[in-house]
Amino acid sequence: MSKYFESFVDYVAVRNPNQPEYLQAVREVAEDVIPYIETQAKDLIACKLFERITEPERTVSFRVVWVDDSNHVQINRGYRVQMNSALGPYKGGLRFSPTVNLSVLKFLAFEQTFKNSLTGLPLGAGKGGADFDPRDKSDSEIMRFCQSFMTELNRHIGGDTDVPAGDIGVGEREIGYLFGQYKRIQNNFTGVLTGKGPSWGGSFIRPEATGFGLLYFVERMLYEKQDTLKGKKVAISGAGNVAYYAALKAISLGAKVITISNSNGTIYDEQGFSQEKLDYVNSLKRNLQDYTKRFPGEYHAGKKPWQFACDIALPCATQNELDEQDVKQLLKAGCMCIAEGANMPCTELAVKAIMKAKILYAPGKAANAGGVAVSGLEMSQNRIGQQWTADKVDGKLKKIMQEIHDTCVHYGKDNNGVINYMKGANIGGFVKVATAMKAQGYV
Ligand code: NDP
Repeated sequence: MSKYFESFVDYVAVRNPNQPEYLQAVREVAEDVIPYIETQAKDLIACKLFERITEPERTVSFRVVWVDDSNHVQINRGYRVQMNSALGPYKGGLRFSPTVNLSVLKFLAFEQTFKNSLTGLPLGAGKGGADFDPRDKSDSEIMRFCQSFMTELNRHIGGDTDVPAGDIGVGEREIGYLFGQYKRIQNNFTGVLTGKGPSWGGSFIRPEATGFGLLYFVERMLYEKQDTLKGKKVAISGAGNVAYYAALKAISLGAKVITISNSNGTIYDEQGFSQEKLDYVNSLKRNLQDYTKRFPGEYHAGKKPWQFACDIALPCATQNELDEQDVKQLLKAGCMCIAEGANMPCTELAVKAIMKAKILYAPGKAANAGGVAVSGLEMSQNRIGQQWTADKVDGKLKKIMQEIHDTCVHYGKDNNGVINYMKGANIGGFVKVATAMKAQGYV
């Protein structure tokens, strides 16, 4: 790597100490974007454009106090990272998880900058959340937490300023409580959050969008190789929003989904999941071990899905859940495609091993962009006071995923015809944001 790359990486490391996830995300993008700048966009060096992209425009962190069902006072920390507004209002999800910290949110907001740019929609980038674990909380505790969280967050967001959505631990229920509190404080029914219920401003297909979009992207990658999903064995991690809809769409496109997992273990069903089986998994909440009480299959406590032979692996749970050892196992068993439903689920060494093997690899910033794309469509519907049909939204989602795919091919195809989707997504996402930032001056 060049001197500029080395000094850039040092610069970011010094400015962001103790933020390993953030530095990992920045390095991954820099490896593609800096060589591009040095050869094709030298004018961006003097105006420090890439350095500016790594500095959030604004970061807020705040106290969230609430009272649990036993009348004990609880204290959490809330955040909003407003990363980049060159292309539109800050846009990105809220995550409620004990693993939330500034490093994780900055990595997610940084990835969001390129992802939102790739959608072609007028969306800036942000991310937020709290170190609150909703998994063991009652419904009324979740409502009290959301109300307290929004009592502070409301002053930093707005339909034309910053429009959060859901992420891990934040689904339609949480968005409802957050929206209700925003409306109460601001006396304003506006499209300030996406992922709303369809009867109160939400878009059809938003819950499905990330999982469906992931499969539309994979379908397109296979099409490029004159292949299809029919008969392919698919291993999926996670049992949440993204995993569920990815599994449903994979099945409807003729694939056989053989795993679903959570942080405690993996269900392996050799015969393949059906919608009925997936709905049963949902009804189990987090008790995946009970799957075998009703359906034949195996539950593997403490194991990841990557030990099972599959053609396609779709990590849909969380960051750094698939490591170099997992890649080795997947390759040995004949896996030909890894596409990320989650954000940065592959470790740095895992990505290097995948690249070396030259199998199909779709990075999350491209492959899971369907969620934010339909959030963008929800914002458009809110602005014009309309609700489009599910078919219309699904059609637009499919088209956006195809265009993202084609952008990756445009910037990522080498002279031998090999497509590096990571490079394509990083450069394709960067070019549009960089052009807008340059036009808007030193801000
Ligand atoms: P959910 O909260 O709905 O589900 C997360 C799932 O992942 C749960 O089943 C959870 O299990 C599991 N999980 C969490 N940590 C681990 C782990 N270490 N190992 C195995 N499983 C784990 O979240 P989403 O489905 O919404 O999000 C999943 C991923 O997709 C995240 O990376 C998110 O950023 C990304 N994403 C989501 C979008 C969306 O629209 N929702 C859009 C784009 C990206 P458990 O209950 O045991 O914790």
